[in-house]
Amino acid sequence: MVATLGLGAVTCSRLFPSDLAALTLEEQQELASQASAWIRSERDAQRPLAIPLVASELARFEPYFPREILEDVRVLGVDSMPSPRFLGAIRHRGRQILRFDQAIGLALGDTLLLRGAEIPAGSPARRGVLFHELVHAVQYNLLGIEPFVDHYLRSLVEVGYRYPQVVFEHQAFELQHRFITHPNEPFSVAAEVEEMVAGLPP
Ligand SMILES: [Zn+2]
Repeated sequence: MVATLGLGAVTCSRLFPSDLAALTLEEQQELASQASAWIRSERDAQRPLAIPLVASELARFEPYFPREILEDVRVLGVDSMPSPRFLGAIRHRGRQILRFDQAIGLALGDTLLLRGAEIPAGSPARRGVLFHELVHAVQYNLLGIEPFVDHYLRSLVEVGYRYPQVVFEHQAFELQHRFITHPNEPFSVAAEVEEMVAGLPP
C-alpha cells in the first residue's frame, strides 16, 4: 500500500518497519525538509496569537539570555500540541520516537508553545519549561530552522533515538537544570550555544 505521509513517493511499507537511519540520505533530507517547512508554517500560524514575555519573566531571564531574543519571542498557551504527520515516519523498532502530543513545551523558532493547563502562569514549573524552550530559541536563532532540524535528526540517529540525548535537548535540559539548581549564578546561554554549535559535525 502506498501512503505518502507527506513524504512524496515513500511508501508505508518502506517507512514503518525501518529506522530513521535506514532511510536513504535522500529520504532523510526529504524528511528534514518536510519538518522544516512544517515548523515554519506552524510558527507563522501561531505567532499572531502569541504574546511577549511578561515583565517579571523578562527580568528573571535577562541575566541569561540576549535582550533581543527575550523581546522577540512570543509565547502561546495551548490545550494540546500540534502533531504533524511527518513525525509518524520518525521511528525506531516500529515505535514512534518523537511525540509532540506528549510535550509540555515546543519551540517553533522564536515562537514558543506551552501547554497552559499543566504549567500555570507565574509558577516555577513554567519558568523551568520557558527556560528550556528559550534555549531552543537561541539555538534556532544561531543556526536557522533548516540546519537546526538537519542536525537534530542526525543527532537523534547518533544517540540511538534517545531523545533527551539529542545534542540540542541535552543542552537545553542541562542549562535548565543549572538555572533551577543554582538560581543565583547567571550564565550566558548564547555563549554556551555558540560553543555547542562550534562542535557540531559539518
Ligand atoms: Zn527541548
